[in-house]
Amino acid sequence: MRRVYMDNAATTRITEPVLQAMLPYLTEIYGNPSSVHSFGREARKALEAARLQVANAINADSREIYFTAGGTESDNWALRGTAYALREQGNHIITSSIEHHAVLHTCQQLEREGFRVTYLPVSEDGFISPDDLEKAICPETILISVMTANNEIGTIQPVREIGAIAKAHGIRFHTDAVQAVGAIPINVKEMNVDLLSLSGHKFHAPKGVGALYVRSGIRLQRLIQGGAQERTQRAGTENLASIIAMGKAIELATADLAAKFASVAALRDRLMDGILRSIPECRINGSREQRLPGNCNISFKYLEGESLLLSLDIKGIAVSSGSACTSGSVDPSHVLLAIGLPLEVARGSLRFSLNEENTIEEIDYVLQTLSVVVQRLRNMSPSAPDELKSDEAFSL
Ligand SMILES: *Cc1c(COP(=O)(O)O)cnc(C)c1O
Repeated sequence: MRRVYMDNAATTRITEPVLQAMLPYLTEIYGNPSSVHSFGREARKALEAARLQVANAINADSREIYFTAGGTESDNWALRGTAYALREQGNHIITSSIEHHAVLHTCQQLEREGFRVTYLPVSEDGFISPDDLEKAICPETILISVMTANNEIGTIQPVREIGAIAKAHGIRFHTDAVQAVGAIPINVKEMNVDLLSLSGHKFHAPKGVGALYVRSGIRLQRLIQGGAQERTQRAGTENLASIIAMGKAIELATADLAAKFASVAALRDRLMDGILRSIPECRINGSREQRLPGNCNISFKYLEGESLLLSLDIKGIAVSSGSACTSGSVDPSHVLLAIGLPLEVARGSLRFSLNEENTIEEIDYVLQTLSVVVQRLRNMSPSAPDELKSDEAFSL
């Protein structure tokens, strides 16, 4: 059976050059980077080379890069590390209502610990308003955390403007750039950002490795105690092979970005326009202009995203519904509710996330399959109006 992977915002595959780069560090070059002998020194040298690759990709200095176990840890560290380090200075944090759970759940935990959090609302396209941000700032504000690009609807925030506001008020600014790295240009200096999270497995490195950019001079509390790794700020023997892979992967992912952006966006537009043309009563979620090249998030009225996802899975097509399955019940995505979708429309949404490995043939296969599957499900949907139902016999 044909298999089509369109869930690249969830994770990506390790590509051949990335695998080749990491393999020696699983077999021959296995020293501990903290060891003083030649085995250790060899590992240390490779570790620092990877740090430079990551730094170069975002216009940082390599001393500003700290390796972590992924985007979630980087987000936790940026938020909690700041909150605990600046506790004497204030207890107020500003974020957006559409952040990844790695940020939102961390904020909720900080609220339980006595911090106050403002969750900025977003427009129907998913943008926070710089005006709202200005108004939320108070003397106790110690941190602003707004993601660079949203993982569900692909909206790219005006990060540079947000950073400028933070800077003007002398407030620390963190951005979760996990979806943005490798998709759009990231330049920590132009973005006025103090802390930036990234994660390897979103751009063809292995799962379980990431980094936090910490602008020099920024003080964070450590979250993980132990040895003196990562200049004493993040203990634990380094995940060397994965870090090497991430270095290689970020170099490849950020080379030729403009060309990659254009070709992935063209695939995405073919999919989006094709869906709008062939399927009635659906809507695109997120901004059409300021959008990640690979993101296509669509609501199909009168349908359950979950049933649609499962029907597509039977046809070999992998997508995401954006909803969180918590203890057996399906909660609609907090992002789709925040952009103002009614509950039942939010429930009928799917995210297709593409990258440079997807093809026109795959898009056309998905379009063909999708229109048949949607029609079949709508024929059975009690909420769908009669004029949307069709007697035509479909076979796939
Ligand atoms: C995937 C993702 C994360 C979590 O990263 P992990 O490396 O999987 O822990 C955080 N934020 C965003 C926006 C993401 O897409």
